[in-house]
Amino acid sequence: MFANLWQEDEARALAEAAGPDPDARALALRVYSARLIGRIPDLVMHGGGNSSIKLRARDVFGEMVEVLHVKGSGADLATITPAGLPAVRLDPLRRLRALPALSDEDMVNVQRSSLLDSAAPNPSVETLLHAWLPDAVVDHTHATPFLVLANLPDAAEICHEIFGPRLAVVPYIMPGFALAKAAASVRDAHPEAEGLLLLNHGHFTWGATPKESYDRLIAQTNAVEAWLARRRPAPRPPAAPPHGVAGGCAAAGRAARCARLCPAGGGCRPRPRPARQRRHARRARTGGCG
Ligand SMILES: [Zn+2]
Repeated sequence: MFANLWQEDEARALAEAAGPDPDARALALRVYSARLIGRIPDLVMHGGGNSSIKLRARDVFGEMVEVLHVKGSGADLATITPAGLPAVRLDPLRRLRALPALSDEDMVNVQRSSLLDSAAPNPSVETLLHAWLPDAVVDHTHATPFLVLANLPDAAEICHEIFGPRLAVVPYIMPGFALAKAAASVRDAHPEAEGLLLLNHGHFTWGATPKESYDRLIAQTNAVEAWLARRRPAPRPPAAPPHGVAGGCAAAGRAARCARLCPAGGGCRPRPRPARQRRHARRARTGGCG
């Protein structure tokens, strides 16, 4: 099970150190919970996962604008700082949702040109998904239990069995504009949901505050792990699970955990990865999915 590492005294000290501005304090707590998530390798693939918070910032004209602080590609949640969560203007990101399609190149271009700081790193390829979810704080992980669940053939049914309407299911689409549109539509259709299972990919959750999103992330991941543990048959010799998004079970420790968790026993069943998952894996390795 994953421990909830949030310490109220640590959080209070970080918020106070950020000064009196409520947005600066919220960003400090956002960085705190992102680090708590990144600290646990089984919650995020190496360097992977991404986090965001919607706040306000003053632009060069002195006007307050809505911004999305979202993880920059290449940053590691475990060691992230406020600079690793660059501020992107939310208005142009939201306007993009009306488009029927958008190339990766155009998406990256709009995201970069909407940065408040032009020297900031590229916002994550999953920026639009974060932007189009209505919630203030959003967290995305490739946690081992969720990867095992997300790759089971009856993942949607199991997800409903575990969570009922609290978790909604998004079909597999490679990260980018199309996935963000699909996920936002699923979210709109399930206003009661507290998270998303992305088939063959991972998990999203959210909250009004960094703590609410983090608490849900831990609780939901533990709920999946508990379900997998209940369904696990008598152990058999583990085998490295060759499937999984972005080679998700590649690390040895992770593979062992994956093998322990998989209800098929002895590791997840080998299944050929379709071309779309291989493309996803390439993108994740280049920092895109992180
Ligand atoms: Zn992802």
